[in-house]
Parts: sequence; C-alpha cells; structure tokens
Amino acid sequence: MIVVMKRSATKQQLQKMVSHVESLGLKPTIIQGTERTVVAVVGDERAAANIGALESDPGVDEVLKVLAPYKLASLEVQPTPTVVTAGSLKVGGSDLGVMAGPCSVEDEEQIVASAQAVRAAGATALRGGAFKPRTSPYSFQGLKEEGLKLLAVARAETGLAIVTEVVAPEDVGLVAEYADVLQVGARNMQNYRLLEAIGKVQRAVLLKRGPSATVDEFLLAAEYVLDAGNSQVMLCERGIRTFEAHTRFTLPLATVPYLQARTHLPVVIDPSHGTGHTELVPAMARAAVAAGADGLIIEVHPQPEQALSDGYQSLSFSEFEQTMAGCRNVAQAVGKTMADTTAPCPTA
Ligand code: PEP
Ligand code: MN
Repeated sequence: MIVVMKRSATKQQLQKMVSHVESLGLKPTIIQGTERTVVAVVGDERAAANIGALESDPGVDEVLKVLAPYKLASLEVQPTPTVVTAGSLKVGGSDLGVMAGPCSVEDEEQIVASAQAVRAAGATALRGGAFKPRTSPYSFQGLKEEGLKLLAVARAETGLAIVTEVVAPEDVGLVAEYADVLQVGARNMQNYRLLEAIGKVQRAVLLKRGPSATVDEFLLAAEYVLDAGNSQVMLCERGIRTFEAHTRFTLPLATVPYLQARTHLPVVIDPSHGTGHTELVPAMARAAVAAGADGLIIEVHPQPEQALSDGYQSLSFSEFEQTMAGCRNVAQAVGKTMADTTAPCPTA
C-alpha cells in the first residue's frame, strides 16, 4: 500500500502518519520524491484492522493499493529511476555503468593489469571473484580474503570501484570491508538469510537472477534487500536455463524493458555468463545497450586461455576495448552516457 501525502503536508503530519502505520503493526518507508512524499507501507495488511483510517489522517492525499507482489521495488511506489552510485561506478537513469574484470582474482599481476586495461577502455568498476561458488567442489574456489586484499590493491592503483561476490551471510562483514558493490550470485538469489544480511550493510548490491527464477521471484529477492534497509540494488540478468544447448545459458534481453516497466531499480546485463562463449559476448553486449540496459558486467582476462575459471567466456584486453567502442556507439544512439576513457588504450 502507498500513502500519498499532500504537497502541503507538514513534517509533523508525515511523522504522525509513520507512527500510525507502525501502530498497526506495519512497516513504513518514506520515499521523498521530487513532486511528493509517499509512505510505502509493507507487512501483512490482512492482519491490520482499521487500515482504512489512514486515509483520514491530516496531510494525506490518497491511499493506493500496490498491485504487484513486490512493493518497494515497484514503480508504483517510486516512479523515478534509482541511480546506484558506488565510488567510480554510476548505474541507472541516463548513466550506463560498466563492470569488467576476471571471473576470479588469481594473483596481483593479473588483477592489477586487468584493472588498468578495463579502466583504460572505459569500465567504471572492476569485477573479480574472491569467494567463488563453483559447480564442482574440486574446481578453484577463489583466494578468499587474500583475493579481497588484491582487489584493494587494484582499487588503490586505478581508483576503480570493486565488485565482488559474497556467498555466505557470515562473510558479509568481511567482504563489505573491501568491496564497493556486493555481488549476490545466481546460485544464491533465493538465499534469504544472505539477502537480509546484505540489506543491513551500506554497500551497493548486484543481485544476479537465478537461472531458473521467474522475474517475479527475482524482484521479490530484491525486495528482501530493500526491506532490510538497503535501497542501492542493481538487478542483473545473467541468462536462464532452457532446453537450448548451443549457449551456456539463454540470455533473454526482453528482461530489460520488461523490468524497466515494473521497477525503478537499474538493470544490468551479463553477456559473459549469459552466452558462455567469448565470440558471442561483443554482439550481446551491444544488443543489451540497444535494449536499454543500465549497466553491463563483462568477464575480461589478460590470458583467457589460462584463466582459472570461465576463460572460455572471457574477453582479452583488445577484445574488450573493441566491445566498449561498439557499446559506446550504441549508447549514444539510445541516449545513454558512458564514461569517457581516461587513459590511452592498452595493447593486448
Ligand atoms: C560470476 O560472476 O563469476 C558468477 C559466478 O556469476 P553467476 O552467479 O551469474 O553464475
Ligand atoms: Mn564467472
């Protein structure tokens, strides 16, 4: 439910409304728009008697029911786009943010070289996994805290914001000490204790869609983070599982306009996991920008053939540079702003 306050409503009237909502056993979230202030009311409305009484409180214009199952993520509650800002990274509205780097942090030379190359090509954040959720327990599991320290070195060298995955609720504090953006991996999209823990820290979140999750389930997962108090959430489409086997996953780009018609949260596309093949990544990155994506996350490695994880879908430095040039052309055509390259382009 949304309580829309009158333009003329005073601070005291808003406070009174918040207390009234709380007294009904429901949770109020104040959303200060440019035009109006609204109070999003979440909780089990069926259990709250006298909910209709909110309408007659002073300063209230109208009380509307939110029809979507997700509330705080809904455009009905917040009609203006959320812009997620984390250090050098800005994603949402007219800003197209690009997060790029290796699947896993492997050593200092690899991560620092990757950071310098992706920054020179126009990326605004460095991705790199330190805690890796792998399908097989025998695969490389990441350098863990040592990997986080190497990411901090790369940030100090380049100024790029760090995007890295957190796989367990008990690791959130540690990863948040190093990361600018906490990534929730596809395998963890419905790990509700993890979502709640992430919602309680002041770090931007990149929430990846589970390969078999519906869009409503995806938005409800985001709702857990928002409901826990963290409004800086990006939604990442990274491909879903279908019967098709020519790509690693099937990347549904229709998710971009579909989500944008329902949520104010920025939508990021991952063409690396979405296709699983290096040669398909540049075209799908451009297509994502054409579809209106607010951000991209792309795997890039100094020597993809030697990568400890996901080398088969990683771009080399020169392939990434070309991909960015293509994306920049498309971004201009669709009215999105991409950061300028700040240093001479590297050679691969
Ligand atoms: C990754 O970003 O390297 C990763 C493991 O992604 P996903 O959770 O989408 O599989
Ligand atoms: Mn990967």
